[in-house]
Amino acid sequence: MFAGEVEFLKGVVAMSGLPPADRVEVCFAGRSNVGKSTLINALTGRKALARASNTPGRTQEVNYFTIGEACYLVDLPGYGFANAPVAVVAKWQALLKQYLQGRQTLRRAFVLVDHRHGVKQVDEEIMSLLDSAAVTFQCVLTKADKVKATDREKVLDQVRAALARHPAAYPEIVLTSSEKGDGIETLRSIVAGLS
Ligand code: GDP
Repeated sequence: MFAGEVEFLKGVVAMSGLPPADRVEVCFAGRSNVGKSTLINALTGRKALARASNTPGRTQEVNYFTIGEACYLVDLPGYGFANAPVAVVAKWQALLKQYLQGRQTLRRAFVLVDHRHGVKQVDEEIMSLLDSAAVTFQCVLTKADKVKATDREKVLDQVRAALARHPAAYPEIVLTSSEKGDGIETLRSIVAGLS
């Protein structure tokens, strides 16, 4: 369903800018540099659909893409910038909270976590927000090609333990490498199955 059908619709900075809630949507969240843009590009088969460089000063936009007529793919701004201005963080958190709690058509959030690093405190905060908004989320591990074989299971155990603390977590973890293409087809069919 993806190839050739994905188009950028708009960047949204306030709830009033959201497109009509006339179809299901899935959103992607993750710490900056987790590989979110690269993953969305791999997923949609487009080279530069999601911008691959995020800077703290850039407008914090919620980017909407259409997947055919059936579904919106929503790219949430990266979080966890080490030295992002307080006002930027506060604005982002407010919009995110409103979005997660107010978007009836949001089917699932995909929370991206770097497979080398596991779930960090900022990821836990997003997961807690998803719990309180009762939005089911699924953890997607990124950059699987960069994990040392000896660390793989250890990190997976840490991720499983973290997910067990969150009632909104979907138990299945998706392992991906945008570099190698691993897990991309799996993720595509999960999204397709939701729309
Ligand atoms: P974003 O800030 O989350 O959108 O992260 P980007 O997509 O811009 O990726 C951050 C960096 O990680 C870039 O240098 C990417 O080339 C790299 N990257 C992303 N995905 C992968 C992956 O699957 N494997 C490897 N080895 N590098 C990746």
